[in-house]
Amino acid sequence: MVVRLEFTDVSDSLKNQCKLSEKFMQIEKEKVAIIDYTVKTAEGQLVDSSEGNEPLAFLCGYHNIIPGLETALIGKVAGDQVEVSVTPENAYGQYNQEMVKEVPLTAFEGVEKIEVGMQFQAESPNGPQLITVAKVENETVTVDGNHPLAGVELHFDVTIKEVRAASSEEIEHGHVHGVGGHHH
Ligand SMILES: [Zn+2]
Repeated sequence: MVVRLEFTDVSDSLKNQCKLSEKFMQIEKEKVAIIDYTVKTAEGQLVDSSEGNEPLAFLCGYHNIIPGLETALIGKVAGDQVEVSVTPENAYGQYNQEMVKEVPLTAFEGVEKIEVGMQFQAESPNGPQLITVAKVENETVTVDGNHPLAGVELHFDVTIKEVRAASSEEIEHGHVHGVGGHHH
């Protein structure tokens, strides 16, 4: 008696299973997610959008994006759309009045003209900090060390385009390489 084993069907269904699990790969730690997003303030003012730009790629679990958004995206798969409101604590922090300081104009020696809205990199006890000029009055400059989005609730509209496994190099670097990520 000759027994013929039919492997074709089995391997095909295995292939399909693999495709299926790839298609439904969830966003979780050490996965790369590529997303399109639009972010607005509670008042509806546009803050940022990937529209017309490269999509954003992030390595989940490595603080690549604000925690409130990352938490909302965990478990989602390609094709999912997510709308989420993120409180300041889970975005860029609360506004801290103590980070507003007055400094003498002479601290900006070498800068031709100090204007409201100008941003500078300053040294702080916690490392380099971005400061924004809030007011210029006679010989005194008021600088604000808060993140420009501190105290702002953010509304995200996200479409997940792709979820894939991260390479060991990406995990080592803690960020994504290629589309939407680092090019180096
Ligand atoms: Zn890298």
